[in-house]
Amino acid sequence: MSQPVERGVSDEYEIIVVGSGEGGKYLAWTMAKQGKRVLVIERKYIGGSCPNIACLPSKNIIHSAKVASYFFRSEEFGISKASVGINMAAVRERKRAMVNGLIEMHLDNFKASGAELLLGTARFISPRTIEVIQPGGRKRVVRGTRVVIGTGSRATLPDIPGLVASEPLTHIEALELDHVPNHLLVLGAGYVGLELAQAMRRFGSRVTVIDHNPTLAHREDQDVCGALEELFRDEGIELRLGCRVRAVEGISGQIVRLRTNGEPELSIEGSHLLVASGRTPNTSDIGLELAGVELMESGHIKVDGHLRTTAPGVWAIGDCAGSPHFTHISFDDFRVVRDDFAGGSRVTTDRQVPFCMFTDPEFARIGLSETDAKVQGIPYRLSKIPMKSVLRTRTLSETRGFMKVLIDINSDRILGFTVFGVGAGEIMGAVQIAMFAGLPYAALRDAVLTHPTLLEGFIPLFSTVPAAG
Ligand SMILES: Cc1cc2nc3c(=O)[nH]c(=O)nc-3n(C[C@H](O)[C@H](O)[C@H](O)COP(=O)(O)OP(=O)(O)OC[C@H]3O[C@@H](n4cnc5c(N)ncnc54)[C@H](O)[C@@H]3O)c2cc1C
Repeated sequence: MSQPVERGVSDEYEIIVVGSGEGGKYLAWTMAKQGKRVLVIERKYIGGSCPNIACLPSKNIIHSAKVASYFFRSEEFGISKASVGINMAAVRERKRAMVNGLIEMHLDNFKASGAELLLGTARFISPRTIEVIQPGGRKRVVRGTRVVIGTGSRATLPDIPGLVASEPLTHIEALELDHVPNHLLVLGAGYVGLELAQAMRRFGSRVTVIDHNPTLAHREDQDVCGALEELFRDEGIELRLGCRVRAVEGISGQIVRLRTNGEPELSIEGSHLLVASGRTPNTSDIGLELAGVELMESGHIKVDGHLRTTAPGVWAIGDCAGSPHFTHISFDDFRVVRDDFAGGSRVTTDRQVPFCMFTDPEFARIGLSETDAKVQGIPYRLSKIPMKSVLRTRTLSETRGFMKVLIDINSDRILGFTVFGVGAGEIMGAVQIAMFAGLPYAALRDAVLTHPTLLEGFIPLFSTVPAAG
């Protein structure tokens, strides 16, 4: 028998947000604090992917792996050790405790803001009208004057025979392991695959990374790809690059085998398989066609610079709208929609998109890479220094990597900055702020910077920029 549908005047909201991810929750809290009647519908993860299954839990696990790597290197720091053991159940427990704390924090924020949180799966049944299937099967229909879609994305499972049947891990299950895999096969050499591959290796797993591209992080400059490859090989991670998997056999968690195309054909066997080969937007099966919301060919929701969809009164934010897939971008999408509600002019098209890959050491970039500059035909001046010339890295025994900067050929404008090395994410942030403020590169060269810190590297970096013209 079908479940009764609840409906009444209380089901009209000024703003409905579908998905409680970064952009959605901040929009909801902000609007509710302004006195608006706001509803957020969330099917599983209170606060979205970042605190539950993505950024924060992965960085938590990666930090445990960093601590393990220090233990394995302890003699180098003059600390003798008896033995090192990895208790993955305890590693997971630390992560789970953090996640539970974050969920509590989110619930407090909902309460304090006055935004209503409804647990259930949302589906449009007509323009700005949504049916919610709550846990237990109960249905509720709600309608918003304004609706914001922030349903995020999920791990893509490529169409490879045998892949689904092999029950592979995605990042969700990998972050929940209570044991170290004997031999982890990682399909995909993007940032999710690389971060988890290195962490699992540091916990003691044998790890093989497989990708059809010829390099790791293939969109980045050659020197970045090369440095990452060297890091991974030094840590004992096996790389099978330029290999296209054509079939998967076996079951992840037992024995799994990848068969590849090419000369020669390879058969790569491991105990577990992690799939990290891209993201698919959560835009199918949610009734978008009934809401008048059009999709792009990629499956992302079609939006303009204000994140308005093709349906009047409906916006889309974050991964599902095809915004660069980062939590800080979903957050900025919130600001764009908030300002659009208020009649402002903020858009997505002119913003900075910084990012950091949390391998150890990290890799971070803001603005143009050399590859981008060449593709776009933008001439530049280049300066590059090894991280070992930044003396702080020597005190840390973390001398691997480099930083480089692209400066405009005629003016002193910073076009892009790349850093692969210890503290990369924080170092990049300082250059980003200089770029944002429109500072000439000489301002960083001539600043008095604390010794010995990583930012001190700006002095040699910006002192060796070739002269203009
Ligand atoms: C392993 C991993 C590590 C990452 N690390 C980083 C990092 O370090 N830094 C960074 O910036 N980014 C990182 N990312 C990317 C980042 O997590 C995403 O870009 C970001 O979470 C996207 O936010 P969002 O608001 O678009 O969607 P999400 O946070 O995914 O939120 C969408 C929400 O909608 C809900 N939902 C979906 N469909 C429905 C429905 N029909 N009804 C109700 N609710 C629904 C989902 O349950 C989910 O909670 C990482 C991603 C992964 C996978």
